[in-house]
Amino acid sequence: MAEKKQFQTESKKLLDMMINSIYTHKEIFLRELISNASDALDKLYFRSLTETSLGVNRGDLAIDLAVDEKTRTITITDNGCGMTPEELENNLGTIAKSGSFDFKQENEKKEDVDIIGQFGVGFYSAFMVADRITVITRAVGSSDAWIWESEGVEGYTVEKGSRDEIGTTITLHLKDDTEDEKYGEYLQEYRIRELVRKYSDYIRYPIRMEVETSRKKQDSDEYETIREVQTLNSMTPLWKKNPTEVSQEEYEHFYQDKFYDFEKPTKTIHVRAEGLATYEALLFIPARAPYNYYTTDYEKGLQLYSSGVMIMEKCADLIPDHFGFVRGLVDSADLSLNISREMLQHDRQLKVMAKAIDKKIRAELEKLMNSDRAAYEKFFDAFGLQLKFGLYSEYGMHKDELKDLVMFRSSLAQEDKKYVTLKEYLSRMPESQTAVYYACGETVDKIALLPQVESVRGSGFEVLYLTDDVDEFAIKMLAEYEGKKFTNVCTEKLDLGTDEEKEALKKENEDATTLFDAMKEALAGAVSAVRFTNTLGSHPVSLSSEGELSVEMEKVLGKMPGGEENRAKATLVLEINASHPVADKLRALAQSDKSRLADYTKILYAQARLINGLTIDNPAEISALVCGLM
Ligand code: ADP
Repeated sequence: MAEKKQFQTESKKLLDMMINSIYTHKEIFLRELISNASDALDKLYFRSLTETSLGVNRGDLAIDLAVDEKTRTITITDNGCGMTPEELENNLGTIAKSGSFDFKQENEKKEDVDIIGQFGVGFYSAFMVADRITVITRAVGSSDAWIWESEGVEGYTVEKGSRDEIGTTITLHLKDDTEDEKYGEYLQEYRIRELVRKYSDYIRYPIRMEVETSRKKQDSDEYETIREVQTLNSMTPLWKKNPTEVSQEEYEHFYQDKFYDFEKPTKTIHVRAEGLATYEALLFIPARAPYNYYTTDYEKGLQLYSSGVMIMEKCADLIPDHFGFVRGLVDSADLSLNISREMLQHDRQLKVMAKAIDKKIRAELEKLMNSDRAAYEKFFDAFGLQLKFGLYSEYGMHKDELKDLVMFRSSLAQEDKKYVTLKEYLSRMPESQTAVYYACGETVDKIALLPQVESVRGSGFEVLYLTDDVDEFAIKMLAEYEGKKFTNVCTEKLDLGTDEEKEALKKENEDATTLFDAMKEALAGAVSAVRFTNTLGSHPVSLSSEGELSVEMEKVLGKMPGGEENRAKATLVLEINASHPVADKLRALAQSDKSRLADYTKILYAQARLINGLTIDNPAEISALVCGLM
């Protein structure tokens, strides 16, 4: 007897879930096993391209199915790459490391459906219908075969066996039928045929089974029942079909199955191009970002096929970073099968295709924005951040292509119009407005409360609310939109008010130089200037900045890795509302009590920092000062 080995913990949990599954679509087990077999055939074929000594003939690669009612077994056989004993251990004793399962809420009932729905469960899904599974496999290049067997959570055994050819045979021993579950249905030929059609029709290798069929007898009108091997799948890849012949459902099925998403795509793009480059592309915009999308773990890329055979799983050169979320594939007869990665990078055809694909996606997104705003906003919630990164990255190289795809929240945003595009902003600007106003902050609510925002809104102008870290960097990269300069209402001197008002303010500032010098001294270099303004609405104070780096940008840079010391700091200006009673008080103190002026200045500065979402370095001192006043 071979030694019984334990499954790795996560696998055990998944297995347990499969065994006790109440999932209604248990039938997917067959699709999972067929896909694995197809992958194994791909791997072998791919390898044979460079190792001709393997003597693989593509025409011989196939998947064979068989059912046996007497023994209640289904077998799935492939002549693919097989597995070494180490691979058996790693692949069937452990769930895929890439698995996006989260076992945290394992007591929740709905999880059953969710996890299976994610299509990542693969091999283990067979335990939904089988109580014993035997795998006999012989790896390419090896003369030994191995038998892996398991009856579920108790563990598995691996021992030496024999097999004539390389490849893998998986035998499922079906569970006994119960009141509500008739596992025996999977022993019916028609049912297997149905499942292959439904899920595995595009598998590019023949899926064969010996089936019962009737045939006209020779030289007679009578029919006889015979058994013959038939290919159950049509094998025509979906992307090779004419789009008019493919239903929406077929596209969705294909996407979910192939790209392991349990949600339907937001948009499907099927291109059949001829001309500079001849290719088919089937592209999908996912409904939501994968859990690792905005991390370095995520790898962008499209699958690359050469005449129906996959030559690269993730070809990054086919898709620009700003559309890195697009999943899909490109198939071209122009590419040679055994082209190397290095050669591919310099391939002219590939560049032509990549450019056309970039353009096509952009056009489709614009179409979506104009035809189904709600869907576009949902898309933007998932991937808007990526588009904004795209504006900013590579020194703004793609800003013109992307500027009309981005949206922002704004002071005029209503329930039904959550976002505004730059075009829309411009279209509803009053004639007197000369700039595109924006303000930054953590949330829309916090921005709305900023003194300067209140004042600009009061003047009847719309303010864009930038809440993502990248926003201001993107806006600065754009600099202007159709001749209108982007203006940060918190940092730039705004041109609000009448000429007389501006003149009066100028004079007030000139008269207060001694006051401002005293205040600057009290703050010991924390601000580069103090000034009166008329852009704070009803608020007494606020902070603004001078120069290229704004307070918000300082916060973003502060979050990035790197030493405290050499972190860039915004050059701060303390702004005081010239028409607030506090201004008069300060003027008076400048004459009468320098020491109280210093205390008041510190308190006002602390308030301004808090209003602008910055922390204060000396909370205890400020607290003591405030208590002193009380
Ligand atoms: P996934 O297919 O998502 O990686 P599975 O649990 O279905 O996860 O399979 C785990 C691994 O086992 C596969 O990635 C593959 O390496 C290996 N495997 C499964 N079935 C076969 C097969 N028929 N031939 C060769 N290897 C296989």
